[in-house]
Amino acid sequence: MKIAVIAVQGDVEEHVIIANKALEKLGIKGEAFATISKEEVAKADAIILPGGESTTISKLIHKKSIADEIKKATKQGKPIMGTCAGCILLAKHGDEQTAKTKTKLLGLVDMKVKRNAFGRQRESFQIKLNIKNIGEFEAVFIRAPAILEVGKSVDVLAKLNDYIVAVQQNNILALAFHPELTEDTRIHEYFIKMKC
Ligand code: GLN
Repeated sequence: MKIAVIAVQGDVEEHVIIANKALEKLGIKGEAFATISKEEVAKADAIILPGGESTTISKLIHKKSIADEIKKATKQGKPIMGTCAGCILLAKHGDEQTAKTKTKLLGLVDMKVKRNAFGRQRESFQIKLNIKNIGEFEAVFIRAPAILEVGKSVDVLAKLNDYIVAVQQNNILALAFHPELTEDTRIHEYFIKMKC
C-alpha cells in the first residue's frame, strides 16, 4: 500500500513516520512517503493532507494540480485524511477568514469549518478526546480549526465542548487536531484499514 503525504509544508515528516509505523503494526506491506508530484499522488492508494498553513497549502496543491488528484482519489474511494489545515481544505464551506484570504477549498466533505477557532489564549493544547471507532486519544491542537456544521452524510467522530473536531465522510477523515504528533498509531491504523 502506498500512502502519499502531500509535502507542501507543515507536519509532513511526522505523518510519514507514523504512517509507516502503522503499516508495520498492521503487518501491511507498503510505504508512506512525502511527495509533491502529481504523478506519485495519482499512483498512491491513500493520501494524507497534513497541517500547516491552509492558505499556502491550498495555493500549491492547486498550482501543482494535486488538488485534482485528491478529488479523483476521493471518487475512486481511496482513503483521504486531512489534519488541521488539511481538515480546513477538505471542507465544502469555510468562514470569513478563508473568504478573506480567498483560500480555495477542495469541497470534498459536507461541512463548514472555522479557522483558528480556539482563539489566541489557547493557541496550542493537548487534551483527551473520546473518538468514535478509536477510543480515548490524546489529541494535540495547534491553532486548530473547528467544524461548525456537518451534512447528513458526515459521521461525527469526536467533539470538544460545542465544537466538532473529527469527522468521517465515507472514505475521508477530517481531523482538527494532529494525530501525527503523538506516539499513538491508532488513527493512522484506522485510516489504513479504511482501504477495502
Ligand atoms: N491555523 C492554521 C490555518 O488556518 C492551521 C494550523 C495547523 O495546521 N496546525 O491554516
